[in-house]
Amino acid sequence: MQKIYLDNAATTPMHEEVIEEMSDCMRRIYGNPSSTHVFGREAKAKMELSRKKIADALNVLPSEIVFTSCGTESNNLIIRSSVDHLGVTRIITSNLEHKCVKETSHEMAEWRNVELVKVKTDTNGSVDYEDLEEKLKSSDKKTLVTLMHANNEIGNLLDVERVQRICEETGALFHTDTVQTLGHYPMNLAKLKVDFASCSAHKLHGPKGIGFAYVKKSTGLRPQITGGGQERGLRSGTENVYGVVGLAKAFEMAIQDLDKHKNHIENLKKYTIQKLQESISGIEFNGLSADLDHSLYTVLNVRLPFKDALIGFELELKGIAVSQGSACSSGASKVSAVIESILSPEEIETTTPVRISFSCYNTKEEIDALADVLTKISEKHLVAH
Ligand code: PLP
Repeated sequence: MQKIYLDNAATTPMHEEVIEEMSDCMRRIYGNPSSTHVFGREAKAKMELSRKKIADALNVLPSEIVFTSCGTESNNLIIRSSVDHLGVTRIITSNLEHKCVKETSHEMAEWRNVELVKVKTDTNGSVDYEDLEEKLKSSDKKTLVTLMHANNEIGNLLDVERVQRICEETGALFHTDTVQTLGHYPMNLAKLKVDFASCSAHKLHGPKGIGFAYVKKSTGLRPQITGGGQERGLRSGTENVYGVVGLAKAFEMAIQDLDKHKNHIENLKKYTIQKLQESISGIEFNGLSADLDHSLYTVLNVRLPFKDALIGFELELKGIAVSQGSACSSGASKVSAVIESILSPEEIETTTPVRISFSCYNTKEEIDALADVLTKISEKHLVAH
């Protein structure tokens, strides 16, 4: 049976070159980077070279890149430490954030007495920038704004420069969750002037279990995990050297091939929109995902004009993997919080969201196969009604 993977916002297949680089490192380099002998120094050198490659690509200092285990840990470090160590007593975020930002912010409100404020979003899932500005100006409390650069379900892109300006004017700290965008867009973090950002290697054809937090030096963030003082004191624990090497290779390849891959994936996305509009009458798209100028090019969130809670299984029976919400939550077909926030109860009752997410490895033939199966499922629903 065919096997078609269209769930790249959940995770991506690793590049062969990344596997090679990691395997070579696993075979040859086994010292602890904290050891002072030659074995340790070799491991340390690999790590620091990797850190420098990433920092250079983002135009930041190597010391501002803190390796962590994933995007979730990076976001936790930034939010928790802002409250614990930087005097943040108010967090402004939105209802559309990834769970690791949402839950952590809620926990800060419940256990650390932080005021939690949600910025308004519209029915497309776009942030109301004026509301953000008003909210920021309405209080003198030390505030952290945490808003994602691209939504992992509906793909909406945030105007990071605009949010940064508002934060700078009002003295707020600004964290943007860039897990879906780092390595997919050219990004000069120093120029963007954000205080914090986050990355996860498995979203850009690197290994799982490794990521980093970008922490602007001047913020003075302190660790959540303490112990041996690795990562310049910001994250203790013996480093995942192989992961770091894999992350750096994946990052290097992502930047090198960025335009080529972006072009290929954008064309696939356009082709998917066109194919599905031609063959399924009444089809729509959630959020801004079909707006090529304002959405992440790797994500398309389809709104099928009928209710089918089993659509994920039906597609899987034909060998096609997509997502119906965010992948982290168990595969259940419950409507996700993001979809719930942007659609009316009637739309939720009568339509089915499907998130299609692409990578450089997808082809037009795979999209044809997807369109074919979705069209047949739609026809079955039309006949039934
Ligand atoms: N933030 C966003 C926007 C994501 O899409 C994800 C993963 O889906 C995460 C954070 C969490 O990243 P990780 O899987 O590396 O913990």
